[in-house]
Amino acid sequence: MARPTKALIDVEALRSNYALSLQKTGGKCMPMVKANGYGHGTEIVCRALENAEAFGVASIEEAMEIRSLGIMVPILLLEGTFSADEILTAEKYNFWLLIENHRQKHDLIKAPIKKALNLWLGIDTGLHRLGFHPSEISSVYKELMSSKKMKSTSVLASHFASADQPDNATVALQLETFDDAYAQIEIAPNHHVEQSIANSAAILSLPTSYRNWQRPGYMLYGNSPFPHENLHEGLQPVMHFVSAVTSIRNINHGESVGYSATWTARRKSTIATVSAGYGDGYPRHAPNNTPVLIGGKRQPLVGRVSMDMITIDITDEPEIQIGDVVTLWGPDLPVNEIARVCNTNGYELLSGVTCRVPRIAINQ
Ligand SMILES: *Cc1c(COP(=O)(O)O)cnc(C)c1O
Repeated sequence: MARPTKALIDVEALRSNYALSLQKTGGKCMPMVKANGYGHGTEIVCRALENAEAFGVASIEEAMEIRSLGIMVPILLLEGTFSADEILTAEKYNFWLLIENHRQKHDLIKAPIKKALNLWLGIDTGLHRLGFHPSEISSVYKELMSSKKMKSTSVLASHFASADQPDNATVALQLETFDDAYAQIEIAPNHHVEQSIANSAAILSLPTSYRNWQRPGYMLYGNSPFPHENLHEGLQPVMHFVSAVTSIRNINHGESVGYSATWTARRKSTIATVSAGYGDGYPRHAPNNTPVLIGGKRQPLVGRVSMDMITIDITDEPEIQIGDVVTLWGPDLPVNEIARVCNTNGYELLSGVTCRVPRIAINQ
């Protein structure tokens, strides 16, 4: 026997969500698999999507983890290199580099590499986190081109600040800045500069942002990237975060449950203990009445979330027994809904599922 806390990963749902991104945009889609595949497990996610043209990750360590699994799909480092030595590793392992600041550009120009690399040139159209200023992009392109370190096809890339609010004025403004900058690049003969800007929210709501490459992340994992929605038509949640009832007790009116006694029974109550807590990535901020599913029905969390356990009021469900499966989030209890009551988003909850939780592929 083993602790019942698990993340079941629905491989078929993941593939179907990826297919939707391809079908909607008609272009190339690069699955974002950073942060342990948004918490779903790098290995399961990358094997499921091994037919993709390339993956996106946040660091060379994440890219090396994928190579160590024997997966040879090209991988884009979305923040480029953090130090010059990474350029040699990138050449060796076929990692593509985002070049987004002058330090990275100089390192690349000086790097003792033999092959030209696949480069993405990052432009800051308004998120103000990474990227060259739009006015610099044509000179950066020229410099990289004459350095011979850049392959004849490169990609101009940017990222939206508020694509989850498609009517937000910054969305149109960022697209306009992006298009203006692209128009300024004097593309050398026999060279191509492709484009990429759309993330999940843009793929689902903003066809004017479709370019050569899209970068779907959250949508692949099946939940809505729009904060006002839980689910989105056509997407299927991939993670079933489950555990089980491991203990049951009766308490009297006036008795409290959990650390700091944040919940007190107003009647004789039955409390089920479930073996999952913040040590597994279940949010400690989940308030009283956050739902879990037992036997397909919602039951309220009561008392503080602890590291290894939570407690549920099952007074009205006398048939619940030790061993019954408990869903913390999944297709029938959207992670966005849990995130909303915890004042965060589903991205944080999914990527926060800890290494203690086994990821188990289902529907392969
Ligand atoms: C993570 C990431 C994405 C994916 O964003 P989603 O909202 O999860 O689709 C796209 N582009 C870049 C640069 C990213 O870092």
